[in-house]
Amino acid sequence: MRDSHNRPIEYLRLSLTQRCNFSCAYCGGKAALAEKDELTPGELLALLQAFAACGITRLRLTGGEPLLRADLPEIIGLAASVPEFTDISLTTNGALLRLPLARRLKAAGLHRINVSVDSLRPERFKKITGGGNLADVLGGIDAALASSLMPLHINVVLTRGVNDDEADDFLRFAENNPVTVRFIELMPFGGAREGIVPNGEILARYRELQPMRKAYSGQPSLDYTAPGWRGAAGFISPVTEKFCSVCNRVRVLADGSLKPCLGSGETTALKPLLHDREKLEEAIRAAVRNKASGHHFERGCTAGCTLQQIGG
Ligand code: SAM
Ligand code: SF4
Repeated sequence: MRDSHNRPIEYLRLSLTQRCNFSCAYCGGKAALAEKDELTPGELLALLQAFAACGITRLRLTGGEPLLRADLPEIIGLAASVPEFTDISLTTNGALLRLPLARRLKAAGLHRINVSVDSLRPERFKKITGGGNLADVLGGIDAALASSLMPLHINVVLTRGVNDDEADDFLRFAENNPVTVRFIELMPFGGAREGIVPNGEILARYRELQPMRKAYSGQPSLDYTAPGWRGAAGFISPVTEKFCSVCNRVRVLADGSLKPCLGSGETTALKPLLHDREKLEEAIRAAVRNKASGHHFERGCTAGCTLQQIGG
């Protein structure tokens, strides 16, 4: 599938819920969508089969917190039954991830996992996440590694005056663990109006980092490593190094609406079309064709909601 800007669209980020067990300062808030209105596994399968028929080959499950869905192993199993999907991944805060669940997710067909961690200091972590327990999350990372949910990415959002003094600690984490720590610039959603730490600022301080080759075209992260490191560091800079011209993704929100561009308020409701495969595919192709050329974060917040509601 190509959009009208000739970008190949092959990656879907699917939000399974708006609910979350954390309330991160720049993201969390109230879930606007009730649990009873979330898509069922059967509805999700119909949606995924239609996206696959339209050319989607890579899938990321997100939220809210996707591990809050007790039927997640079933959902992953259904996604894995779609032969077109060559990569199925999950973004989670990791707090509920334990070895038996990690193994079940892997056995169901999950390939890899991203865990979000904004501080390696327990008290600060608790404050940023609105009560989260760092030890649970680090245990979740261990469980994912022990279950071969790899390559494993650690998502870090630095905010000026909150945790920007931890860049060093996170780089040491990447040095000593087989993970890629990815610094994601703060984007202007929800409560995140200021405090961005430009990734260029971190990179300028660490001259020993050596750039790695991109794993695939359209990869937004610039990855680096250094001699003797077990892992790597990645830099995703949607604000200071806008990568909209190579954007290859669309999103589906937890209520089943298709959101082609993160920075645009345009959505198409797909839930009413789930029983009609032809109309569903038509709607997907039309919305993708009309995908906005890019975001305008420099003008401030473009969508009146948080990434917890959209699906980050
Ligand atoms: N709850 C899961 C988690 O925390 O990984 C999945 C959903 S969360 C919305 C996905 C990612 O979005 C997290 O890594 C989070 O740090 C990121 N995020 C949320 N709000 C953001 C913002 N305003 N700017 C940049 N990243 C943000
Ligand atoms: Fe919840 Fe993830 Fe947002 Fe934190 S970043 S509030 S864990 S959805």
